[in-house]
Amino acid sequence: MLALHVKEEILIDVKNLTKYYPMKGTFFGKSKDVIKAVDGVSFQVRKGETFSIVGESGCGKSTTGMSLLRLIEPTSGEVVFKNKNVLEMKRNEMLDYRQNIQVIFQDPYSSLNPRHTIKKILSEPFAINTKLSNAQIEDEVINLLRLVGMDVHHLYRYPHEFSGGQRQRIGIARALALNPQLIICDEPVSALDVSIQSQILNLLKSLQKKLRLTYIFISHDLSVVEHISDRVAVMYLGKIVEIGTREQIFNHPQHPYTKALLSSVPVADPKLKKLTQRVHLEGDVPSPKNPPKGCPFYSRCPIRLDSCNQTAPVLKEVSHEHQASCHLI
Ligand code: ADP
Ligand code: MG
Repeated sequence: MLALHVKEEILIDVKNLTKYYPMKGTFFGKSKDVIKAVDGVSFQVRKGETFSIVGESGCGKSTTGMSLLRLIEPTSGEVVFKNKNVLEMKRNEMLDYRQNIQVIFQDPYSSLNPRHTIKKILSEPFAINTKLSNAQIEDEVINLLRLVGMDVHHLYRYPHEFSGGQRQRIGIARALALNPQLIICDEPVSALDVSIQSQILNLLKSLQKKLRLTYIFISHDLSVVEHISDRVAVMYLGKIVEIGTREQIFNHPQHPYTKALLSSVPVADPKLKKLTQRVHLEGDVPSPKNPPKGCPFYSRCPIRLDSCNQTAPVLKEVSHEHQASCHLI
């Protein structure tokens, strides 16, 4: 865990990121309607920390993560990595950047070629990006397998021969091949049984320590986020509505949405249970096709005032490093 009083180096600085999708099937294609999947998101990720993005399905977490890699091309904004705006990088710079930033997905099975052995899958990054000999690559692959706690006798097996947890270990091994600085983990344990989830989370934690990794950890599951995060951003309808340290978000939530999310998960800590009254989230998230003019959370907010529907709140500092966007705080 990071000591947050130390001034840490910022690894990636995201400024006012947006991703708008044009709406399909509009009348004569003339409509300017857009889906605001990510709508003005800003955050900084510090070297060595786990920065989590949490929120319900569809709030824009994956779009944010994939935009940082330009696997999705953002509509506007800046992503600054080592003083360079990633969104303006040339091809060569992009290749270098993509070695530094890797992704782990929810379902490694879909990204592991079923016809390739584990050896082949893990050799690929080295074969493509380095000049290592076959023997050297084999050494590297064996190191990777050991690093993620897998036995070397698995080398000649195929992805379908593994359990979900083991496949995620292979996904992690592949992500680690080229010594990245940052790993974007997009719901990496959401498809796994709870007992396997904690094994993978513990593996991620120990790898972080060993290799000084930085994580952006994307999850809809607050109990997972509580386990792994240093800092947390809560997203709702394409916007960050609250951001703070893990302690601030879990023990002193400010935004009614964060409180509602927290009250809907089973929490281990009985003190926390008292702190957060049970707030039930009613209704569905409004569609990002017609985002509300005022507060995005208005339609579901248990403490809303009529005036909340008029203007969109902005993030306000509630304490050091802790911000929330609510007209009532
Ligand atoms: P999350 O990862 O939080 O579940 P996503 O980032 O996947 O959310 O999606 C955010 C919003 O953008 C959702 O409303 C989703 O339907 C919409 N969206 C995602 N991809 C596309 C696309 N290619 N075209 C149109 N809308 C999209
Ligand atoms: Mg997602």
